[in-house]
Amino acid sequence: MKRLPRPDIDPKEVYEVCVSGVSSADLAARFKAATAEVVELAQEYMARAATNELHLFPSSPWGNGASLVVGDLTKDDLTDLYSSYMVKSSQPGRAYYDRITLLAPLGKCPLCGFGQVSTLDHFLSKSRYPSFSVLPVNLVPACSDCNTGKGAGVLDAENQIPHPYFEDERIETESWLYASVNETSPATATFSVVPPGSWPPELAKRVTNFFQELDLASRFAVEAASELTSLSDFLGLLETGQQLSGHLGLVAQTERTHRKNSWKAALYEALAESVWYCKGGYRRPAA
Ligand SMILES: [Zn+2]
Repeated sequence: MKRLPRPDIDPKEVYEVCVSGVSSADLAARFKAATAEVVELAQEYMARAATNELHLFPSSPWGNGASLVVGDLTKDDLTDLYSSYMVKSSQPGRAYYDRITLLAPLGKCPLCGFGQVSTLDHFLSKSRYPSFSVLPVNLVPACSDCNTGKGAGVLDAENQIPHPYFEDERIETESWLYASVNETSPATATFSVVPPGSWPPELAKRVTNFFQELDLASRFAVEAASELTSLSDFLGLLETGQQLSGHLGLVAQTERTHRKNSWKAALYEALAESVWYCKGGYRRPAA
């Protein structure tokens, strides 16, 4: 999980530009009449996100597209404002979609750290919290696996995950992702979360929830398996008396410096510390 700079975009401006694409006069009038209320909710979102209290917003029940959510706007009206007037490339709202997508450095998904950004994820899902369907700070660039994996659940005090625009900086400055080497042939790795003991329990819980909800243990293991295959060949070339552990340790150190909790940092740290791996466990079984 990488924190991102908050989109510096006025929520009212995005809402109004998306609404400007609506051709039905009746629908456009209903959207315009609800502007003040939508803007007020956006301000409340900012305040609650800053104190990890987004779960205090009431959620919409599953389905019920015709139920009124804000003013005379239904849940379907609000989710459609996103799908039809912000995502579609022919609509003026699309410019904001593209701007938010660009907040992810190098186009990498800030959630898993290795997928390619291909969509915007609603931090509070649009089906449960339709009032925030075009709110910039509720839209997070993500890869499709993370977007799908996050689902559309109701947020409560227990299942919170870090918000990339609001989370405590410690998730990036302190190590919490670790790996262990399995002495198998070929070698494999298992990832786990070990939050620093100094963290408040709520922060530790958010990071642990995030790791589970996005199924990162198995997704990181897949990335690691491919890395271990190439590494096996490379280490085979290095092995004449060279310090494999020192080499792996340097890779780990570099990774931890730049990408504190990447799967690669955790993996290389575990490899450098594994005497079994460095003494030959890295060799792949003969084909
Ligand atoms: Zn991802």
